[in-house]
Amino acid sequence: MLRPAGLENGYFAMICLAYQIIRWTRPRAGIGLNRLNYDLHCHSSISDGVLSPALLVQRAAEKGVDVLALTDHDDVGGLGEAAQAAAAVGIGFVNGVEISVTWSGVTLHVVGLNIDAGNAMLQAGLADIQLGRRERAERIGLELGKHGIPGAFDGALRHAANPRMIGRTHFARFLIEQGVCKDVRSVFKKYLVRGRPGYVTHEWTALENAVAWIRAAGGQAVLAHPGRYDLKGKATRRLLGEFRELGGEGVEVVTGSHTPDQHALFAELANLYGLTASRGSDFHAPGEYGRELGGGPELPVKCTPIWHNWRLTSARRTRAASKTVPN
Ligand SMILES: [Zn+2]
Ligand SMILES: [Zn+2]
Repeated sequence: MLRPAGLENGYFAMICLAYQIIRWTRPRAGIGLNRLNYDLHCHSSISDGVLSPALLVQRAAEKGVDVLALTDHDDVGGLGEAAQAAAAVGIGFVNGVEISVTWSGVTLHVVGLNIDAGNAMLQAGLADIQLGRRERAERIGLELGKHGIPGAFDGALRHAANPRMIGRTHFARFLIEQGVCKDVRSVFKKYLVRGRPGYVTHEWTALENAVAWIRAAGGQAVLAHPGRYDLKGKATRRLLGEFRELGGEGVEVVTGSHTPDQHALFAELANLYGLTASRGSDFHAPGEYGRELGGGPELPVKCTPIWHNWRLTSARRTRAASKTVPN
C-alpha cells in the first residue's frame, strides 16, 4: 500500500525524537549526550561470564549501552539468544567472538566483530580451540592436585555453564568457593599465572589463523586489551605491525583493564599503525574487577572508531546503526 511520503517522514521524525528523549534520560557512563555508548567486548555464561546471554543484554540496556557486542571466548553459541534479547530491549547488537592466540610464546586475544557465526571456517577453527581448552583444563586440575588442591577440575567444571569452555576463571571461582583465595585477581596471582602451581603452558592457535577465520566470516579483527600482555614496547609495536599486515583492523584502546595512560598510548599506536580504535568493558560478572557494561571513558578524540563506517559497509551491522549520530 502506498502512503504519502510526508506522513512517513512525520512518523520517522516522531520515532527519532522519542528515541533521543529515551537516550537523554538513561545513565550514560561517561558518554557525551550526542554519542552512542558502544560496548564491544563482554562475556556471558557461554564462556567465563556468569550471566546468560539474555540477562547480560538486559543488564547492558539498564547500564546505558546503545550497541553491544557479545564476545565469548572461542564460542559463538550465545549470539542467537543475545541478538533476540537485544531486539526485545531495543539496543543494537553485534555478533562477536574472542579468539585465543599464541604469538611469540605469549597468549593474546583477538576479538572478531560483525562475524557470520555460521561460517564453516570459523566454526572449524573454534572447535579445534575448544578441544585444546578442555585438555588444558585437565592439566591445570592435575597440577593443582599435586599442590594440595584436589578435585579442582570437577570443581571448575561445576562453575562452567558451558563445559566446552572451561577456563582459568572457572578454576578461580572454585578456589574462591573453597576459601583458598578471596577474589579472582588473587587466585590468578597465586595459582594460575606463569611460575605458579596451577600454571600450565598451552599453545593456542596462530595469530594469522584467528585473523583469517574472522575475515572469512566477514568480520573485523580487533586486538583485545593490548596493555595486558607481557610484551615490551618493541614487541608490542612488532605485534601491531604484524597484526595490520595480516588484515587486522582495530585495537582496543578503551577496555576494562587499561589505565588512563594506556588509553593515550594505544590511541597513539592505533593511529601510527593505521588501525581503528575499539571500546569494550570486558565485563564478566557483576562486581568482578570493578568493571561494568558500558563503563569507561569515551575513545580519545584522535581515534577513528571501529564503527565509523558500519552503516556504510554492511546491512548486518546493527539495528542501532540506523540511529547512529556522528561521533
Ligand atoms: Zn581477553
Ligand atoms: Zn574478554
